[in-house]
Amino acid sequence: MYRLARAHELAGFVRNDREGVWLEIEGRRDKLDRFLAELSAAAPPASRIDRVETAVVELRRDGAFRIAESPTAGAHDRAAAAIPADLAPCAECLQELRDPGNRRHRYPFINCVSCGPRFTIVESVPYDRPKTTMAGFAMCGDCRREYEDPGDRRFHAEPNACPVCGPRARLVENGRAICDGDLAVRGAATAIASGAIVAIKGAGGFVLAVNAADEAAVARLRARKQRPHKPFAVMGRSLAELERVAELDDDARALVTSPVRPIVLAPALGAAIAPGIAPRLADLGVYLAPTPLQQLLLDDGPSLQVMTSGNLADEPIARTDGEAFAHLAAVADVFLVHDREIHNRADDSVVRSARVAIPMRRARGMVPTSIEVPFSSPPVLAVGAHERNTVCVLHDGHAMLSQHVGDLDHPDAEAFFREATRKLLELADVEPVAIAHDLHPDYRSTRWALEQTAPCIAVQHHHAHVAACLAEHGRIDRVIGVAFDGTGLGSDGTLWGGEFLDADLDDARRVGHLRSIALAGGEAAIRAPWRLAVAALADAGEPVDMVDAPADDVDRVCSVLATSLAVPATGAGRWFDAVAALLGCAQHTSYDGQAAAELEALAAPVPLDVLPFELDVVGGEVDLRPAIRHLARDLRQGTARELLAARFHATMALAIERGVLAVNGRTAALVGGCFQNRRLLALAMARLEAAGVEVLVHRRVPPNDGGIALGQAAIAAYRLAQRRPTCA
Ligand code: ZN
Ligand code: ZN
Ligand code: FE
Repeated sequence: MYRLARAHELAGFVRNDREGVWLEIEGRRDKLDRFLAELSAAAPPASRIDRVETAVVELRRDGAFRIAESPTAGAHDRAAAAIPADLAPCAECLQELRDPGNRRHRYPFINCVSCGPRFTIVESVPYDRPKTTMAGFAMCGDCRREYEDPGDRRFHAEPNACPVCGPRARLVENGRAICDGDLAVRGAATAIASGAIVAIKGAGGFVLAVNAADEAAVARLRARKQRPHKPFAVMGRSLAELERVAELDDDARALVTSPVRPIVLAPALGAAIAPGIAPRLADLGVYLAPTPLQQLLLDDGPSLQVMTSGNLADEPIARTDGEAFAHLAAVADVFLVHDREIHNRADDSVVRSARVAIPMRRARGMVPTSIEVPFSSPPVLAVGAHERNTVCVLHDGHAMLSQHVGDLDHPDAEAFFREATRKLLELADVEPVAIAHDLHPDYRSTRWALEQTAPCIAVQHHHAHVAACLAEHGRIDRVIGVAFDGTGLGSDGTLWGGEFLDADLDDARRVGHLRSIALAGGEAAIRAPWRLAVAALADAGEPVDMVDAPADDVDRVCSVLATSLAVPATGAGRWFDAVAALLGCAQHTSYDGQAAAELEALAAPVPLDVLPFELDVVGGEVDLRPAIRHLARDLRQGTARELLAARFHATMALAIERGVLAVNGRTAALVGGCFQNRRLLALAMARLEAAGVEVLVHRRVPPNDGGIALGQAAIAAYRLAQRRPTCA
């Protein structure tokens, strides 16, 4: 604004205010109009203009335009307005990084007011250098001049630094520093090129890098990380490099190059990289460097590198050098570290590029950007679900959702949950008057909530899913929530996951559901989709010997099906698992959603418009048995598995349409982990829209359990705003 006002020779001032930015300008009318017209286009990529309100005020006859001090606002207002998310290197900084004549040539910590670390280095509010992990670095004269000059693009760039005064990289092998500065960066790039696994201190934590063209290195990384199948993402030197390995449309390209720099899941082209990177999947996760340090490694080393979270399976991403040395000693051959501390851990964010971009994981670059809800309430904390946990603080219409924490089974993940909760409350600077948690009593997040002194509000899992979608769309009306996920505890004590809920932010009524499928052996069935295939066939009256498993095992599952050890669950994800196993995808899985992802990949070559199998809808239950019978018969007759996989997706979309129309739904919210499935989402949206139903889908928070905390918070806050009883 300063530069734009100066350019148009306008007088007045700008300052940060309670709600955002306050600007007073005076000058000739035509120049004022031009200023306003150019405001949006001139806004830096890091900014977000929600709206511009203008009013005529009395002429002050100000001198030259200036930047005024902020009034002492309440901490909450400042917190809400002032903590930005991390930003990937901007084009100008990248140019300087590669310019031999620039004083920051090849400096891995180059940044400016439009780019650099933010959330990951902030210790407390307001966001000023002394309250970041840059506090210990005193700026040199040159950096200080840039920082204080309103005309400079590093004016008040809090992490501003250069090789003279800023952080420095170091290469560590076997606990000893081998070299530092530029030699360390070049050494790490050479190590990656020669097949080593290099642990790199990234933006929000450590990442592990290997050459993406080196199958042996990828296999070694899988073995050492104890991650047999879960796909890795690939980072590329440039957009052109990424387009060699993934099919990017305009939307995907915009996502890939946005300052968020998420991992973008897009159709894999199958060439140029090791086959072990994303086995049996149709999509590949690709991204550009979120930090200048990683850009240098791609410029110096292989142009495509696997970059994956620096952790062992289920542990949180390593944050400090000490954590990395301790936890990754048996994984990484060498460590590229530096002396700028990471305060807030944040993994890479993940977005799936589909007809709409589906956020899969919100972390670096997306957190803690707030989500506005259309009502005001006292502060509440929501502690999320058990898997893909995030936590949320909602206050005064602003919801701050934490970074992805992960699955809370691992003790370190539980510690991260407590750390993320504490730090989020510090940043939001509020004391919650209530804590919302899942209905499930055994979730670690639930147990933690119940140990706190604030009153608790239990929220049913699928109601929370629907509420998250309503909240991010700013809606408080009633909709039909189609909650399709794995399993969650229903309000009747059974396992749900294929639900039609007549819901608003206050309450939810179950008006329909998928037929239940039996989990033989309970939780064990979730990691063994073949057991679900047996259950589905037995239920439909089809021969169970079609399942690709030893006859003894199949017999054992059949005998369990008749007992109370078989737990009925309506989870749509479990039906996907069953059909995936039946069609020869993973019989045993090592990561959440694996069987369904492989089934989607199997269907990928088949056009979307294949016919669904038939279904019955009886008294609120969508009965999938006719579809299973048809599919089993076709499979026995040798129909291509790809076609059957595609027809099953079409069937589930039909199930959604039938379920919504059965209760005369006018608006449907498609929520739950199943809607990470691009094919299912596209088919369901098309069917519903053709039937005249308005469709709401997630755009800002994940449809999976990563969005649960927002839904819990929205429900609790909405009830409080209406002064309802606070305890469930
Ligand atoms: Zn920059
Ligand atoms: Zn400096
Ligand atoms: Fe869920």
